[in-house]
Amino acid sequence: MKSKWTSFPGRRKFSFVILKFIQIYRGMNSGKTLVHALVKNQPLAALRAIGEKVLNKERIYAEEGLLLFEKAPLSYIGALANHVREQLHGHKTYFNRNFHIEPTNVCVFSCAFCSYSRLYAHRDEGWELSLEQMMDMVRKYDGKAVTEVHIVGGVHPKMNLSFFAELLKKIKNHRPDLHIKGFTAVELDYMFKKAKLTTEEGMKSLHESGLDSLPGGGAEIFASDIREIICPDKVDAEGWIHIHRTAHRLGMHSNATMLYGHIEKYHHRIDHMERLRNLQDETGGFNAFIPLKFRNKQNDMSHVPESSVIEDMKLYAVSRLFMDNFPHLKAYWPMLGRQNAQLTLSFGVNDLDGTIDDSTKIYSMAGSEEKHPSLSTTQLVALIKQVKREPVERDTLYHEIKNYKHIDLAAMDADASYN
Ligand code: SF4
Repeated sequence: MKSKWTSFPGRRKFSFVILKFIQIYRGMNSGKTLVHALVKNQPLAALRAIGEKVLNKERIYAEEGLLLFEKAPLSYIGALANHVREQLHGHKTYFNRNFHIEPTNVCVFSCAFCSYSRLYAHRDEGWELSLEQMMDMVRKYDGKAVTEVHIVGGVHPKMNLSFFAELLKKIKNHRPDLHIKGFTAVELDYMFKKAKLTTEEGMKSLHESGLDSLPGGGAEIFASDIREIICPDKVDAEGWIHIHRTAHRLGMHSNATMLYGHIEKYHHRIDHMERLRNLQDETGGFNAFIPLKFRNKQNDMSHVPESSVIEDMKLYAVSRLFMDNFPHLKAYWPMLGRQNAQLTLSFGVNDLDGTIDDSTKIYSMAGSEEKHPSLSTTQLVALIKQVKREPVERDTLYHEIKNYKHIDLAAMDADASYN
């Protein structure tokens, strides 16, 4: 019988390219001596010095990060990033079993890159889920081994803090073990201001209602000159950072994103990453850094071309080298597509997010190849094994649930709980 995991679209076409990449980069980095030799033989002294710092586990400065973007060959930063990744995690590649709830795509804001939202005046073109509809979605997973629900959506003027506190309580009552990761800093900022609460008061209220951690969305690019063009009216960089700092101080963890590959320059990316790195030095509350690729379908920035795969891999590699205090670097596969997500595993990435179960529309509406993002556990494990990495199921906070290194794919195929 044909195994289900072999039926990825385009699997054969990409396998050859991916395996070639892996041979080259793993070859460079399979022994410490090879990556050391690569650094030693780097002709540009400044790049050689950065390579030596990376090998010595020293922090690289903003100017050095910029130089990596501007001057370093992909082969060089790819091998260094892979070295760092393997020092931190070996071959382990994390994923979780999760689903999303997107309460609404109605939004008071009008971000130029957004393909997803509808203004309140056009809410008939969008969706607004009731508490019961969202609870039906949660109940759909009764008896299934999901560990996380991810809740994000548009900023609806009438879905306020009390509404979401009620939702959190209902979910926790129904399923106390489900980790609730919810609400971008943009949604939270609006909710707290509308409720006339300080960030700390608002965060405490949601935390007490059942919110466990925050996703990383809404960060986009922190620099105000870019923000003024792509998302002028929502919370600014300082506001985003304040919300995450507050969550960390209350003992909650969060992730951080960066929307890249549109009108920003390399120095904007470095500025963004440096602000996050500084906050992580201060609080230690971030789990993962998640670069998000700009997709240009059905939005006000459709004239801006998307970045190439080479640029994507460069970004992941520099992120791994620069974000030295972030334990995890995640490639969000519904955005990149599963084959490109596989490639990132040789450029510093150690996490691919989760099963998703076709429960998000954010990237499919923006033109991602993944129109109905859903992977079974077997498919995710196969995806990771196919590029010679070690699949590890985790919970939201990166506690290991199960290592699939020695678990046979055919046996997983035959087990309904994985499919
Ligand atoms: S990116 Fe978020 S805040 Fe901006 S318009 Fe879209 S849904 Fe609203």
